[in-house]
Amino acid sequence: MIYRHPHADGVTARLSTGETVRARYLVGADGAGSTVRKALGIPFTGTTDAAMRMLIGDVAADGLDHAWAHWFAHGSDPMHGVHLSPQPDTDRLFQFHAPLPEGVTDDSLDTLQDILDGFVTGVRLSRPAWSSIWRPNVRLAERFHVGRVFLAGDAAHAHPPTGGQGLNTGVQDAYNLGWKLADGSPELLDSYESERRATAARVLRISSELLQRLKDKTEDAHERDESTRQLDVTYRTSEGRIVPGDRAPDAPVLDADGKETRLFDLYRGPHPTRLTFGLLAPDEPHAYAVLRPGRSSPGPYVIDAAGHAHAAYDASDGTSVVIRPDGYIGARSN
Ligand SMILES: Cc1cc2nc3c(=O)[nH]c(=O)nc-3n(C[C@H](O)[C@H](O)[C@H](O)COP(=O)(O)OP(=O)(O)OC[C@H]3O[C@@H](n4cnc5c(N)ncnc54)[C@H](O)[C@@H]3O)c2cc1C
Repeated sequence: MIYRHPHADGVTARLSTGETVRARYLVGADGAGSTVRKALGIPFTGTTDAAMRMLIGDVAADGLDHAWAHWFAHGSDPMHGVHLSPQPDTDRLFQFHAPLPEGVTDDSLDTLQDILDGFVTGVRLSRPAWSSIWRPNVRLAERFHVGRVFLAGDAAHAHPPTGGQGLNTGVQDAYNLGWKLADGSPELLDSYESERRATAARVLRISSELLQRLKDKTEDAHERDESTRQLDVTYRTSEGRIVPGDRAPDAPVLDADGKETRLFDLYRGPHPTRLTFGLLAPDEPHAYAVLRPGRSSPGPYVIDAAGHAHAAYDASDGTSVVIRPDGYIGARSN
C-alpha cells in the first residue's frame, strides 16, 4: 500500500502493483514503520533505545544439531552471549540473537560470524535468509483511527519483546475491531480507539518495566505475573464486581440434553450472545436462558448445575447479560 484517499463512504488505496482498491474501511496492520500511519500524519510518540542493540537473523549453522537451541557464552558472564534457536518449517535454519558490540553498524553474515567466533570456534554460519539490527521501541500512536482508516498491531503500538506482549496485543486489536467494522455504527467504531489505545499504553508500561529489570539484572527479571496474560484487560467505565467492559467469564454448564458444555462454547464465533438468568431467553439468535437445576424452558437454555455461571456473573433471576463477539460484556441489566 503506498497511498490512500478517504471518501465519505470509503477509502481508495493505491498498491505498489499499480492496482487501485476501493473499500469501506482501511486497516493499517503494516508494522511499526506503518505506511498508513505516516500517510495519516499520526505521530508515533515515544522513544527508541539506541544503547541496547540486538543483531537478529535466520541463518544455517553447520555443525549444530537442529533438534536443540544453543547458547554460547563465557562462564564469567553466562547471560551475555549468542543464542541460536532452531526455526521450524525451514531448511534447518536457526534464529541468531546477540547483543551488537559498540561501533558495529552492519547486519551482514560476516558480522554474525565474527560475533559467534568470539564465543565458539568451528561453527560456520551460511545461507542468511534475513538479518536486522533491532532496538527497543516504546512508541504509541496518538490516534488509532482517522475517519475510515484504522491502525492495528505494531503500526499502533511498538514495545520491547519482554513479556511477549506484542503479537498478543495486535491480535486483540483485530478481534476488538473486526466486529465493529461489520456493525459500522460510528459510536462502536470510535470505541476501538478508546478501548485499545488505553490497553496498548498499559502494555507499553508493563513491557518497559520488564525490560528495565532485565537491564538492571534484578533477580526477578524473568518472573511474570497475571499482567502479562492480558486476561485482566477491561474496558469498564463503571464500578461493580462485574460490569460492561469486563472480560466475560467462562463457566461449566449442561446443555438441554444434559451434556457438559461451557459458556465459552456458546460465545465462540463472530456473533453476540445473550444470557438471561432464570428467565425465558428472548427470541433472537444466540440467546440462552441460564437455569438452576430441575428447571427447563421452551426456548434455548443451559443448566447451571453447580451455580458457577450465576457466581461468575454475580447474577440472580432476571439478570440479562450481552456478550460481545470479542468476548467482553457489552451490556447488563437486572
Ligand atoms: C525479538 C522479538 C521477539 C518478540 N517476541 C514476542 C513474543 O514472544 N510474543 C509476542 O506476542 N510478540 C513478540 N514480539 C512482537 C511481535 O513480533 C510483533 O508485535 C508482531 O509481529 C506485530 O505484528 P503486526 O502484524 O502488527 O506487524 P508485523 O509483524 O511487522 O507485520 C506487518 C506486515 O505488514 C507488511 N507491510 C509493511 N508495510 C507494508 C506496505 N506498505 N504494504 C503492504 N504490506 C506492508 C510487512 O511486510 C509485514 O508482513 C517480538 C518481537 C521481536 C522483535
